[in-house]
This record gives sequence, C-alpha cells and structure tokens, in this order.
Amino acid sequence: MIATEKVLEGLTQPAWDVARVREEFPVLRQTVNNRPLVYLDNAASSQVPQVVIERGSRYLQEEHSNIHRGVHYLSQRATTAYEGAREKVRRFINARESRECLFVRGCTEGINLVMHGYGRKFVGAGDEIVVSAMEHHANIVPWQMLCEEKGARLRVIPMNDAGELLLDEYEALLNERTKLVAVMHVSNALGTINPIKEMTSRAHKQGIPLLVDGAQGAPHLPIDVQDLDCDFYVISGHKMFAPTGSGVVYGKAEWLERMNPFLGGGDMIRTVTFEKTTYAGLPNKFEAGTPAIASQIGLGAAIDFLNGIDREAAHAYEQELLAYATEKLSAIEGVRLIGTAREKTGVLAFVIDEIHPHDVGTILDQEGIAIRAGHHCAQPVMKRMNVPATARASFAFYNTKAEADALVNAVQKVIEVFS
Ligand code: PLP
Repeated sequence: MIATEKVLEGLTQPAWDVARVREEFPVLRQTVNNRPLVYLDNAASSQVPQVVIERGSRYLQEEHSNIHRGVHYLSQRATTAYEGAREKVRRFINARESRECLFVRGCTEGINLVMHGYGRKFVGAGDEIVVSAMEHHANIVPWQMLCEEKGARLRVIPMNDAGELLLDEYEALLNERTKLVAVMHVSNALGTINPIKEMTSRAHKQGIPLLVDGAQGAPHLPIDVQDLDCDFYVISGHKMFAPTGSGVVYGKAEWLERMNPFLGGGDMIRTVTFEKTTYAGLPNKFEAGTPAIASQIGLGAAIDFLNGIDREAAHAYEQELLAYATEKLSAIEGVRLIGTAREKTGVLAFVIDEIHPHDVGTILDQEGIAIRAGHHCAQPVMKRMNVPATARASFAFYNTKAEADALVNAVQKVIEVFS
C-alpha cells in the first residue's frame, strides 16, 4: 500500500506518500527544457507505472501469440493473460459477470460500439437520444450520426454557469420517445462530477437505459456499475495508467445479448456459411478480429497497480491538490476559472484576459509544464461558457503541491510577458 500512517489527535489517518508513488512512474523523472517535467495533462493521457510497462514487455518477450484460436502453449498463455485481464476489469467495476466487460480500444470505439449495436437496432424515426451540454465529442457525434440515419432527434440537458447539469430540466426531457441517455461521469473540460446514480434512477423510472462515458470517471472515482445501475459504462485505459489501445465497454448482459455486433469477422462467430452467419456468445460477439492483446493485459496490470494503492487516500490527496491549485490560481488577477461546480475532480481549466490559451500552453511548455490548450473535444462547452478555448491543467495522484506552485508561478510569468 502506498500510504503512510499519520497519527492525528489520537486518530490514525492515512496520508498519501506522493514521493513514493512518483518512483513508480519512470516518465516523471525526466527534464523538459532543462526543468523537471511537470505533467499536468492527465485528462488526455495519464502516465504508466513501471509494473505495467514490465507486464507489457513480458507479454512481448514470453507470451506473444494470438488468443482464443490456438491449441499451442503460447496461445494458451496469451489467452489466459487476456481473459485474466477481463476478470480484473470485472472486479474493478463490480460487474456481475466478466462476459459483460467487452474489450475495445477506448471510449470512442466503445461509444460507437453501443451506437451501432444498440442504437441502430432500437432507435427509429421520431425517437430521441438525450446527451448533456458538457459532453466530449465522442459522446455527441456517434449519436448525431445515428439520429441522421434514423430520423431521430438529439436532446441536450442544459447546465448552469458553474458547469452543473440542471436535473429538473433533465427529467423534463425524458419521455416515451427517449431511447437512451448518454452522459459523462466526469467532465474532461470542466471537471464536474455528474450525479450518475440519481440520473440513472430517473431514467429507469421511465424505462430508459443510460450509458456513462467513464473516460474521466474511472481514473479518479471508485466505479461500481451495479450500484450506479447504469446500462453501459465505457472506459479508456490510457487515462487510467494503462497503455493506449486498451478500454472497456461494460454492458448489462440483457442488453448485450439483444444487441447487434459492431464489427464482423473472425472470433465473433459461431458458424459461417455463404447463406448465413450465427454469432458467438458474449463477450466474443463484440470482439471481432485480433484485439490489442498486449494493451488489454497492460490494463489488467494497471488495475493490479490501483488495487495495490490506497485509492481512498489517493482520491483525498487529489482533491486536496485540486483545491490548493484552484485557490492559488484563482487569486491571480486576470485569471478566470471555467468550471466551478461544487462536485469536481481532476481538472482545473482557466482563461486569462487577453491571452490566448495556446500562448499560455506554449509558454508553460518552455517551463517544462505540460498542460492542454484548446477546446478539449468539447466545442459545445466552449460555446456555452462563451470562450473560444481554455487552458487546462489536469491532475493525477502523482502530482505535487510544488508542481501546482510551478503552474501558478508560470501563469504569473505569462501575464508579465504579455503586460
Ligand atoms: N470522453 C471523454 C470525457 C474524454 O475525456 C475522452 C478523451 O479525452 C473521450 C471520451 C475519448 O476517449 P478516447 O480518445 O480514449 O477514445
């Protein structure tokens, strides 16, 4: 466990040992532009711990082979490791069965899988899909494509100026034409944590299934899909300390069984003749072709890593760090935060009067600080907040207060440069 015990007035409280956890992430040891790297772009991709790197290279050195179809030793080892990763995912999100966990390359592919598998089968002309005003393009565009194809309509849950969804307006949008609610757990542009359990319960009261874009939820929050009771939960591995190319669609078996496959090809069939193909059972029906075996095994190793740390202490530490950076940054004259919801995690987005976020990002890079500048694949959020773009610092449990200070000092420097 990467947490030390701190005795406080007779109470034992876990404290997060950030120096120790940083040792697990080799990429953090480097300098950029002669400064220690300050990596604050975790919402785009988080870094990968040594154990995940080693697991990936062990697969390549000792186990590399195609899965499922081989009778030989290596294929069986690769299959065991791949299916073992699926079981780790199941436990991590508390799914009932591992066949409810489909491996995909990430959230984009995952949401497209649900769009093709569920949407094209169950959505028709005049039906409605409900998304929220803060969605990433990955949870807008596929539904728009579906609406265009089917003559269906996209409805949008509005949000307030702080970046919180308006739940009464959400409920008012739901009706007998609504075929799906698709909403993000945590906003990549604003940091808002959405009340998924409450939203699911309101959708289910009207018999409507709900999909969660969990890209930013899984890296920060404990995920219990049975407790959330969501119908789909989609994850990108590269945002939760695993390699790119890994990801998961959780879906309730009763939906997945009724859905059409997404891609057709090898490994997803039971029988094929030129007249007709019958499909394999779950999860294979949704995993055509050779998957990203090394990446998904890496995702399993990332889950092992997360199980080996004190996640509660990690989350408390992240929240403290976000509060610290928020206070310091918002005290700078000319800085305006974008996204001030009461329930937030991970993300600190801001604009500076008269200075374009790309200039902020470029100057910060010269200081060795990696942040992201732009619309963060959420152009409707930028429009709603009336900004062309934002600068976004996003945190993980390996970031430090000294790094938050470096961010704040560099922002002050940017303002001086432009004044
Ligand atoms: N949804 C959210 C909230 C995201 O932040 C991202 C990536 O930034 C995505 C979806 C898309 O994820 P991926 O690029 O891994 O497919």
